[in-house]
Amino acid sequence: MSVAAELKAPARARWQRELAEAVSEPRELLGILGLPASLASAAERAGAAFALRVTRSFIARMRHGDVNDPLLRQVLPLGEELIETPGFTADPLEEGAARRAPQLLHKYPGRALLIATEACAIHCRYCFRREFPYSMPEARTGGRWSEALEIIAQDASIEEVILSGGDPLSLSDARLEQLTDALGRIAHVKRIRVHTRQPIVLPSRVDAGLLAWLGGIRVPVVVVLHANHPNEIDAEVRAACADLRSAGVTLLNQSVLLKGVNDDADTLERLSVALMDAGVLPYYLHLPDRVRGTAHFDVHEPVALALIDELTRRLSGYLVPRLVREIPGEASKVPVSRHNSSQS
Ligand SMILES: *Cc1c(COP(=O)(O)O)cnc(C)c1O
Ligand code: SF4
Repeated sequence: MSVAAELKAPARARWQRELAEAVSEPRELLGILGLPASLASAAERAGAAFALRVTRSFIARMRHGDVNDPLLRQVLPLGEELIETPGFTADPLEEGAARRAPQLLHKYPGRALLIATEACAIHCRYCFRREFPYSMPEARTGGRWSEALEIIAQDASIEEVILSGGDPLSLSDARLEQLTDALGRIAHVKRIRVHTRQPIVLPSRVDAGLLAWLGGIRVPVVVVLHANHPNEIDAEVRAACADLRSAGVTLLNQSVLLKGVNDDADTLERLSVALMDAGVLPYYLHLPDRVRGTAHFDVHEPVALALIDELTRRLSGYLVPRLVREIPGEASKVPVSRHNSSQS
């Protein structure tokens, strides 16, 4: 950038600097955590297709010297990802079929999901969109949403628009405002929902600019966070959640049930309690989608059902998330119960 352009460019916010400083070299991550450098070559191989990426803020919540740390397991590429497992495919949800425009997925009645950006602050190894064909030029540059907005405007059945991605809060406040201003002009859009992991993995994202953006939205806003383990929720995250709530946002959380991360009742109980302490209600506990490269995270349904039974015995009803799985072609996420379990 030329000096003149640099002088004109708006100062970067703290969150943007932190995003730029995210760790993407396995050797650096292992070094910070005091782990053997011998783990790096597998991480480099497994990370070739879907790179390592993690914020320093998230790393600071990991235990030093513990390769099995539940936060580290979510981000460190492992050799297991390269093992082909029957039944685990690139697009298990068959999302291609639900695409009404490059950036719009309309699968369920009443709500449509807008892919606001492909960028995320961290790369979760179990991500069901790790092979999502984001590669449309509009998405890469942060989005031209005109086609999606046009479809929403013409379909009065769409009362709720879900901003998703990627992580929609990767966009600048100005871009977010453009998007929600455009949605605000569509009379039948009654709610806006934001699916984001950033208040968890980059709590500095919840700053004055973001709160001003939220304050300017005239319809109710629901923010669905994504935390999987109680260690993710520290004082800074609690402060970010408090700020979001003071902006009038309803806060929910969805988690993914992941082997070696949160597949035990004590961890799930502590997660629900930590969320509630931060003013966030548990919403969904997703059984992982069968995405290629994620078989080592898979938890079988009977195990998941037993965990939910145990949580139900221990916690108030509203602290027990709903166990769901996505099944292509169904009209909603499918609740998993003893009555409809497909595995026994
Ligand atoms: C998960 C999802 C939704 C939201 O579903 P809820 O059950 O309302 O949370 C909407 N659209 C798509 C394409 C989804 O994957
Ligand atoms: S933040 Fe969400 S979309 Fe991004 S990699 Fe993680 S799970 Fe996937």
